Amino acid sequence: MITRTLLAPPPGWHKETDVVVVGSGVAGVTTVLAIRRALPTARILLATKSVLDDGSTRWAQGGVAAALGPGDSPEQHLQDTLTAGAGICDVRAVRALVTDGPGAVRRLIDLGAQFDREPSGPLALTREGGHLRRRIAHAGGDATGAEISRALLVALAEAGASAELEVIEHALAIDLLRAADGRAAGITLHVLGEGQTDGVGAVHASAVVLATGGFGQVYAATTNPPVSTGDGLALALRGGAEAADVEFVQFHPTVLWLGADSRGRQPLISEAVRGEGAVLVDASGRRFMTGVHPLADLAPRDVVAKAIMREMIAAGTDHVYLDGRHLGAAEWEHRFPTILASSRAHGIDPVTELIPVVPAAHYVSGGVRTDLFGRTSVPGLYACGEVACTGVHGANRLASNSLLEGLVFAERIATALARGLPPATEAAGEATTAGLLDPAIVRPLQQLMSGSAGVLRSGTGLAQAAAGLADLGRQQCDKPDADAWQATNLHLVATALVQAALAREETRGSHWREDFAEPSDAWRGHLVSSLGESGLSSVFEPVLDD
Ligand SMILES: Cc1cc2nc3c(=O)[nH]c(=O)nc-3n(C[C@H](O)[C@H](O)[C@H](O)COP(=O)(O)OP(=O)(O)OC[C@H]3O[C@@H](n4cnc5c(N)ncnc54)[C@H](O)[C@@H]3O)c2cc1C
Repeated sequence: MITRTLLAPPPGWHKETDVVVVGSGVAGVTTVLAIRRALPTARILLATKSVLDDGSTRWAQGGVAAALGPGDSPEQHLQDTLTAGAGICDVRAVRALVTDGPGAVRRLIDLGAQFDREPSGPLALTREGGHLRRRIAHAGGDATGAEISRALLVALAEAGASAELEVIEHALAIDLLRAADGRAAGITLHVLGEGQTDGVGAVHASAVVLATGGFGQVYAATTNPPVSTGDGLALALRGGAEAADVEFVQFHPTVLWLGADSRGRQPLISEAVRGEGAVLVDASGRRFMTGVHPLADLAPRDVVAKAIMREMIAAGTDHVYLDGRHLGAAEWEHRFPTILASSRAHGIDPVTELIPVVPAAHYVSGGVRTDLFGRTSVPGLYACGEVACTGVHGANRLASNSLLEGLVFAERIATALARGLPPATEAAGEATTAGLLDPAIVRPLQQLMSGSAGVLRSGTGLAQAAAGLADLGRQQCDKPDADAWQATNLHLVATALVQAALAREETRGSHWREDFAEPSDAWRGHLVSSLGESGLSSVFEPVLDD
């Protein structure tokens, strides 16, 4: 049974700060910058487990959505977001997102982010699936995340010239420290550096902000980078915080298949390639989307992903193919230079060859449950960005709302902290490494999750996944290191996901049950997960209409 055991050995060093922010993607860095503006005297420590720009943010392609264009309004953006969320968005959170959104994008521009512009000067805004207006601001064509990350990190470096801000790279947050009264009192951190703060230590702080991103690495195929192991969600659950909507994982229908043993991030093959006429085929070259949907290869994402999975199961293979050879070299180079380059870097030439593709985990709508100011159910603990469940995405994220969520809710956390930092408290309780899992479980766990709890879900498959996870949970290890902490986190997150997915007997948004193919009014609500003395459990909370 999974218990609430904390995972770190007794800390070997101690640090004091006011706010510790964990993670350096759009959510973490924006939070730091916003706190510096709102509370210039606060001491901040930013800890990140790899280098600063290693996270999903730098890989974001399409852009950031906000009602910035003529004829658009926050109200229209709200309506589109609610439609995508399939009946369970938190309307107040969506209202905050769309109302604060345009200002958040303008602040990024003021910081120096260079968004693409029309020849006459205004922002070049495009449309994506589900948006009824042109409201996606983008940079460098399909390199929006890289530009946002660049601009934020330049601003961070400028702000870093002060005694109040400390940044530590290669620092893995392990667990939440809590005071005797239950408040967050800091974190334990494993630093892989040289000097005073090597090894496991304790950072004591009045407020902890988790900005650790998603958990795509729970699956064998994902667009997320290797750092997306769900640490923040696992840490929060172990620390007593509630999570919500963790069963809602968005899958991208086509990423480059890199082989059964591939690890880490798999490059996206954008829908736009199919938009230009590329078609999905099996190993014999047969088109299989014709007849599945009137739009064939341009059917909605979920239809395409499901059809690919069914095709793979029927053929007993682990990928299908995308045929874009008819586009020719000039069109590939002009329209899809990034995809062309990344395919060629992996030995596939889309100009002359079929591209092997597979559906992959892309974005998690749920996470650590927060209110409109990023506050979790544990006083002093905040969550922002993909790790959080603010309620804006409901059962399915509207494209390009996730970067915006990080930008908007980071500011709101700073606003909450500026009303008065909570008093510092003493950490209580013993740390222990009991319950750590063997890193060797990661690959079988990912395969189990992709096979039984991924795109196609059923009661039988999910029950098998739950049993498989229980078995993997018995493979303990006694070597406390980064791999073991991350394996243990993946296992906890996967278990919470499977428990919620098994409970939710309906199809809604990005949760597709083969055995309950329709949405059910009885399930219009949230599964709220927590880790108590008797293990993981989830409680259903219906949506209450105003
Ligand atoms: C290929 C791809 C394309 C996308 N395209 C878009 C798009 O066009 N528009 C859009 O809105 N969204 C897009 N998304 C989603 C979006 O990029 C993410 O949701 C968003 O960037 C998440 O930001 P974040 O700051 O929450 O997390 P991340 O950017 O993932 O950052 C997480 C940070 O936490 C750190 N971290 C994790 N665990 C720990 C730990 N234990 N200790 C210390 N540090 C830790 C990581 O190292 C990293 O610095 C895309 C995602 C991908 C993968």
